[in-house]
Amino acid sequence: MPEVTTVDPATGEPLARYPAQDVDAVLDVLAAVHAAQPAWAGRPVEDRAALVRAIGKQLRARADELAGLMTAEMGKPVGEARAEIEKSASACDYYADHGPGFLADRPVETGAQRSWVAAEPLGVVLAVMPWNFPYWQVLRFAAPTLLAGNTAVLKHSPNVTGCALAIEQVFRDAGLPEDVFRSIVVAEADVPEVSRALVEDDRIAAVSLTGSERAGAAVAASAGRAIKKSLLELGGSDPFVVLADADLDVAVAGAVRSRFLNTGQSCLAAKRFVVHRSVAGEFSRRFAAAVAELSVGDPRDEATAIGPMARADLRADLDGQVRASIAAGATVLAGGAPLPGPGAFFAPTVLGDVTLDMPVMAEETFGPVAAVMPVDDDDDAVRVANATRYGLGASVWSRDPQHALAVGRRITSGALFVNTVVASDPRLPFGGTKRSGYGRELGEAGALEFTNARTYVLG
Ligand code: NAP
Repeated sequence: MPEVTTVDPATGEPLARYPAQDVDAVLDVLAAVHAAQPAWAGRPVEDRAALVRAIGKQLRARADELAGLMTAEMGKPVGEARAEIEKSASACDYYADHGPGFLADRPVETGAQRSWVAAEPLGVVLAVMPWNFPYWQVLRFAAPTLLAGNTAVLKHSPNVTGCALAIEQVFRDAGLPEDVFRSIVVAEADVPEVSRALVEDDRIAAVSLTGSERAGAAVAASAGRAIKKSLLELGGSDPFVVLADADLDVAVAGAVRSRFLNTGQSCLAAKRFVVHRSVAGEFSRRFAAAVAELSVGDPRDEATAIGPMARADLRADLDGQVRASIAAGATVLAGGAPLPGPGAFFAPTVLGDVTLDMPVMAEETFGPVAAVMPVDDDDDAVRVANATRYGLGASVWSRDPQHALAVGRRITSGALFVNTVVASDPRLPFGGTKRSGYGRELGEAGALEFTNARTYVLG
């Protein structure tokens, strides 16, 4: 029987083994989730909102336990882990408060006696989720999607199987009816076959995937063949643009936070630092000095800023990108290599003298590595910022917000932040352009994403 084994990335030691489900077992789960949907959608939206609020309460009540599990499975420093649980709970509160309003019928004047648009559920939505924010990614999907009257099947990353099952339990303990939300556990080798079988099954109405381009393209291709809606939240290589008139104290503090939160394993982390030549030397020196000070170590220790990367193979991929960039002429301003000893640790790294064709600029780096590139003027900054296949977030730093906005408007991205670090917020829509994906989560847009905007006319 196939199994999934989770591993503590801080030590390399196994944590737990879980029996995995084959295609037939997964389709049985789908049958149950599909059968549960009409009754769930038939409940008043206020009931569903109360249950979504109860999920938030459960998350808060079990914050220490849930955070500890996440730290064990993917190495997130425990303070950040607790903050992720709180943020997930806040998304539940937000949709419990505002979701019923977003979903309310919208009257439209037409000449008919009455006409309106209703936001009706699609049915069962499949969620394929990544390990880097193992609770937040699921809750930002589930809170609005379930509130709208859909039911859901979650296929999480195998290395956070404990978190996936804990989420299912939290939903049950919050009082959600059986089978409104179910996690499936699939061995890695079976993932393509199982996901194809699910996406092609008529009982799945739509799919939401957060993860890599490779996974997104595979799932969206199956969805396209089956004429089903898909939402893709994929990679990012956000530019962090420092203009000549930036306040460097503010910019350097923002750069460290933006790049190194979650040990650099964030889709919306700043990854390419595009800095006006007149301040590039000073910025690089200060940035590298601050990065060298970050405490790396046991993610269970409250004082740790940088834990291990989530898996040894991901560290090896990052190391390959850094080595190739150094071989092509990048200089190491801080870190630059994996740390010896057990665990998937990588030294927080800043590289200078980078060029657009080096892996650290041309590809997404999913770990604690920053690349700094000087530019000649605002036009050059825009050219470099846009020299990526991704378009998730972008930030621009300047003492003159109008100047920053004028530059930032010329950068293609799903979000532009000025003098502050790009971050998701339940109140604001979040999503990508270009190869970062399509569709929006969070905010009002996220509440309506998995609904049928159904037209009603009374003649
Ligand atoms: P990943 O390898 O693509 O995995 C994401 C999920 O997709 C996992 O559950 C994975 O399962 C599944 N998957 C992979 N191949 C699949 C296939 N052919 N069919 C169906 N499912 C498949 O990505 P990751 O390494 O976990 O996450 C890192 C990536 O996610 C980065 O690129 C990051 O930027 C992106 N990300 C984006 C956002 C956003 O909001 N835009 C947020 C977070 C992360 P298996 O592991 O079992 O294959």
